[in-house]
Amino acid sequence: MLDRSVLVLNKSWTPIAITTVKRGFSLVFQDHAHIVHPETYEMHDFESWLAGNALPADAPIPDAELWLRTTNLLIKVPEVIVLGRFNGVPRRELAFNRRNVYRRDGFQCQYCGAKPGLKHLSIDHVNPVSKGGVTNWENCVVACVRCNTRKGNRTPEQAAMPLRTEPGKPNWSDGVGFGERAPASWTRFVKG
Ligand SMILES: [Zn+2]
Repeated sequence: MLDRSVLVLNKSWTPIAITTVKRGFSLVFQDHAHIVHPETYEMHDFESWLAGNALPADAPIPDAELWLRTTNLLIKVPEVIVLGRFNGVPRRELAFNRRNVYRRDGFQCQYCGAKPGLKHLSIDHVNPVSKGGVTNWENCVVACVRCNTRKGNRTPEQAAMPLRTEPGKPNWSDGVGFGERAPASWTRFVKG
């Protein structure tokens, strides 16, 4: 449970990292961060969080996943914290892999716009490998199998199949990096 994930926002409320409950509590305890209530957006220091989000240790646990048992108290674990001072955005590398390309492109064919489902999608090299095209964020897009076949070993220009969007490396905070285990509340803190 202490390994559950906590979303870290910088001072401007831009998501910049994911940490553990343990580290999150530690940052709040040391006054480096506040806990953000995921629905009301209220900010709490450790004490004010306890005031509304703690129960006696012998109380029945409402949801074991979300409560931390200490010697004296059950404390609701935070889902989001905001840093008090740091306002930068650290450079974070989003792993380049098939899954993240699918996520970046919204599981949508970048040529015809179809969303036929994963089984009928593929990764297309915009500039074909046979013409020196490389495998990276800028040269790989999601294409439906039909478009990929039709395009063949041609560039979009040669095939007269323009791309819907210019492919590029997504920002870490676009949400692509969060994975499926992210609490639903996180989406409120992520653009788009
Ligand atoms: Zn298509």
